[in-house]
Amino acid sequence: MNVTRTVAEIRAELLESRRAGHKIGLVPTMGAFHDGHLSLMRRARRDCDVVVVSLFVNPTQFNDARDLDAYPRDPDRDAQLATEIGVDHLFAPPVDQVYPPGFATTVSVAGLTETLEGVHRGRAHFDGVATIVTKLFNMVGPDVAYFGQKDAQQAVVIRRLVRDLDIPVAIEVCPTVRETDGLAMSSRNVHLSAADRARAAALHRALRAAQDAVSAGERDPGAARERALAELARADIKPEYVELVSADTLAPLHRIAGDVLAVLAASVGGTRLIDNEPIHPPSEARSNGDWRP
Ligand code: AMP
Repeated sequence: MNVTRTVAEIRAELLESRRAGHKIGLVPTMGAFHDGHLSLMRRARRDCDVVVVSLFVNPTQFNDARDLDAYPRDPDRDAQLATEIGVDHLFAPPVDQVYPPGFATTVSVAGLTETLEGVHRGRAHFDGVATIVTKLFNMVGPDVAYFGQKDAQQAVVIRRLVRDLDIPVAIEVCPTVRETDGLAMSSRNVHLSAADRARAAALHRALRAAQDAVSAGERDPGAARERALAELARADIKPEYVELVSADTLAPLHRIAGDVLAVLAASVGGTRLIDNEPIHPPSEARSNGDWRP
């Protein structure tokens, strides 16, 4: 596996492949790899001729300097894991390569970033994400880029960004990889104490409770949300938010229909975790032209 640090290097490395019409896949990451990251790399390896993984802990998307300092980093282990998967290029630029002196441009996606994580982490978080992802697309020029459903709002924002700015890249969103008790894998999970690690499984149980309610016929998002809140309360977790929203627009729902996303964020013992589950309520039967409950 090739390790590159500069934009000029990665472009030079990819020149031949691009000329030859090879399909280039990009997996953007902030490192500290777990099976969630590896699943994206494996998918890219399966689908593409050339696989590029970027590793950059992007300072502009952190709303808290302590969170940035404490973010887990293990570049040697990351390189080892990426090599084992068969990644071709690990692109790991230093900060001044990405943000040279005088850097002054921000990409901002309106609307979609003003809800959920955008409210709780602030708009600057998604401005940081939109800007770094746009830059990575311009640096690497991938045909396909792979993202995790784990960061559902991020995936929705990136799809919109690519559409709005006509960036010629296909976006693939891959399923959330979970621990056996349902906890979504996250680089931040290493910060959980053993007791908090056990409690954190309630996040997924809460999402499943909302999902189960909908499967059992519940169509009131408030009632499904209550089921999730009760599950969190049992584990003594006070969420930042629990919402049932439209999977396409992230807008709040008055009634559960279409593709729905149950989303939540909670701090467990000081570690902020997010998770979500797509919910597909069975479409309602139509009879004599009337919608039936
Ligand atoms: P990060 O390094 O946390 O920025 O994540 C890099 C990519 O991996 C993003 O597209 C995430 O959505 C994705 N990812 C993180 N955790 C998971 C997971 N548990 N399952 C699937 N994808 C994930």
